[in-house]
Amino acid sequence: MNFNIATIPGDGIGPDIIEQTILVLNKLGEKYGHSFNFTEVLGGGVAIDKTGEPLPKETIEICKKSDAVLLGAVGGPKWDNLPGDKRPEQALLGLRGELGLFANLRPALLHKPLKDACPLKPEIIGDSLDILVVRELTGGIYFGERGRRNGKYGEEAYDTEAYSVKEVERIARVGFEAATKRNKKVTSVDKANILESSRLWRSVIEEVAKDYPEVEVNHMYVDNASMQLIRNPKQFDVIITSNMFGDILSDEASMLTGSIGMLPSASLAEGSFGLYEPIHGSAPDIAGQNKANPIATILSAAMMLRYSFNLEEEALALENAVTKVLEEDYRTGDIMSEGMKLVGTKEMGELIINALQ
Ligand code: NAD
Repeated sequence: MNFNIATIPGDGIGPDIIEQTILVLNKLGEKYGHSFNFTEVLGGGVAIDKTGEPLPKETIEICKKSDAVLLGAVGGPKWDNLPGDKRPEQALLGLRGELGLFANLRPALLHKPLKDACPLKPEIIGDSLDILVVRELTGGIYFGERGRRNGKYGEEAYDTEAYSVKEVERIARVGFEAATKRNKKVTSVDKANILESSRLWRSVIEEVAKDYPEVEVNHMYVDNASMQLIRNPKQFDVIITSNMFGDILSDEASMLTGSIGMLPSASLAEGSFGLYEPIHGSAPDIAGQNKANPIATILSAAMMLRYSFNLEEEALALENAVTKVLEEDYRTGDIMSEGMKLVGTKEMGELIINALQ
């Protein structure tokens, strides 16, 4: 099969990690008989330098014509003093809106060989951890009506949480579909004891659940969920939640894995289109020094294979190759520990390519 992928290397370590991910995908394509065509476009600080805009129109057009987008990272000290709407991060917000990316998928996966990086006690975490947080990305309080007004105690500010049935239904379907490919358990997180929007959320989840009888579903209040993630994280498989709750819980869940250079993410639109990126930033302190860990981006590419191209076998092959390299004790600086073998970005890419064979 043929797939068109727009790549946005961006700033800092972005180009280092995207380069390795392209090499890995090419090898995988060779092995399984697929051809991946990459078109590199500008986004972030580098786009500001070349065009004056963090997200040039051409970038949006090429992304829209592609089957998926692979992004490195944007931002850096060079652009820190620009006004808000001219900053590199605007590229991310712009892409979400322009590409209709309403579902954010963030797996918190603790690889067995890295289990010591988890801040929880071994008896709580066991050998590994695998949670997928599915966060609604384009609705709720971050996009609701807001403003200032004169209230009972003088000047006040307000933000509004609003969700439509349609918005909850489509994020619910993404979460339930993902659960069918995993351990078939969904936890929907809300605050239905207080919020009307959460009561609607809960009723829509119940309706969607009827279409997935093989998936076990339970509901949890957000305060309890934040506690349970620490107390007993292994009870979770897929967490479906709103924009703000997901923002907070996905960061909490990712901390359980202890290593920022390992965590991928996907942002999905309706249909199969998606944008895939590591959760870490542009790490300007190590840019261009062959020190960045490319694994978060390579695992983001595995998510692209799974969610946009429906290539489950290939996605698993890539994930297994990463695990194999970690089991052979190879580590980049960010996940290095005593007795392990330190390698650079390029060597890590090569090792993963070799492990694919
Ligand atoms: P960061 O994630 O870039 O770096 C935090 C620390 O983790 C640094 O010490 C860095 O060296 C290390 N690190 C991060 N990724 C690594 C990797 N793959 N391999 C090895 N080490 C890694 O966060 P920051 O320092 O707060 O932000 C730097 C810049 O990135 C800022 O301009 C920020 O706005 C931007 N940023 C971008 C995104 C994005 O593009 N999605 C996300 C977060 C931050």
